[in-house]
Amino acid sequence: MNKIIDFKKYTSIHIGGEHKVKIIKTIDTYPSYKILGRGNNSLISDNPPLLAILGEEFNYIKEKDGKLIVGAATSSGKLLTYCRKNDIANFELLAKLPGNMGGLVKMNAGLKQWEIFNYLHSIKTHEGEILKNNIPHSYRHTQIDGIVFEVTFNIERGYCKEQQKVFNKMRDNQPNLPSAGSCFKNPEGYSAGYLIENVGLKGYVIGGMSFSEMHANFLVNLGNGTFNEAIELISLAKEKVKDKFNIDLEVEIEII
Ligand SMILES: Cc1cc2nc3c(=O)[nH]c(=O)nc-3n(C[C@H](O)[C@H](O)[C@H](O)COP(=O)(O)OP(=O)(O)OC[C@H]3O[C@@H](n4cnc5c(N)ncnc54)[C@H](O)[C@@H]3O)c2cc1C
Repeated sequence: MNKIIDFKKYTSIHIGGEHKVKIIKTIDTYPSYKILGRGNNSLISDNPPLLAILGEEFNYIKEKDGKLIVGAATSSGKLLTYCRKNDIANFELLAKLPGNMGGLVKMNAGLKQWEIFNYLHSIKTHEGEILKNNIPHSYRHTQIDGIVFEVTFNIERGYCKEQQKVFNKMRDNQPNLPSAGSCFKNPEGYSAGYLIENVGLKGYVIGGMSFSEMHANFLVNLGNGTFNEAIELISLAKEKVKDKFNIDLEVEIEII
């Protein structure tokens, strides 16, 4: 089954054209397709590869034998609400962390030392269940081959409202304008925001795109920003930071 998706509306950064997207309904390999979740970390080019998303069949939450079993098309908001209602700890970090479980696990999304892999037990791909210890992962990086269809977490009881408030506070400096989250990964010992600001690019505008005035590591769409303008800003920041600090900034946003 296919569907036409307007990625200018679908992605959080509001960039991308209309493309035919495959809706995946059964577990298989789909080697010709690039899988997407909610598009909160993605910058879609004008000529993307074939795209696919998971169907509603993968949008579920179950509890079994002390484990939380979540379909990869389940949104972070739905899981957060479930954990709040069922007094489950550790998922408070999902507040204001937009995405589907497949994307969140693939990106090892999180906030500082709190990241999704901390609570993971295993994932399900076309190869079956893969335990966390067998998945190489680090800060905002995982080596997952293929599509994640299901995610299993260890359950600890005790949802903590105070912890959620702490996470919300940590996000106070994030802009409300359309973005794809942090543009670059923080290099060892530095914050990417500090480096971008230090080379004079905080608030710097090209066309309809800018490094935010509020937080330099957020590439924001001021209205009608384009893919090419976003790429120009990314290249400029990489070049200036390399010249001044001899640091190679690595993009966190997925350029598709
Ligand atoms: C306002 C804002 C704030 C944010 N704050 C944070 C933050 O604090 N911390 C953080 O880590 N991120 C943050 N992000 C980025 C984003 O929320 C995360 O990267 C999230 O994991 C993206 O999920 P998604 O479903 O939207 O992924 P997408 O953008 O759709 O995809 C991201 C990547 O995951 C892959 N992928 C998606 N689904 C699957 C699947 N089922 N199987 C295998 N691979 C898959 C895609 O191919 C792509 O490579 C923020 C984004 C926004 C817009």
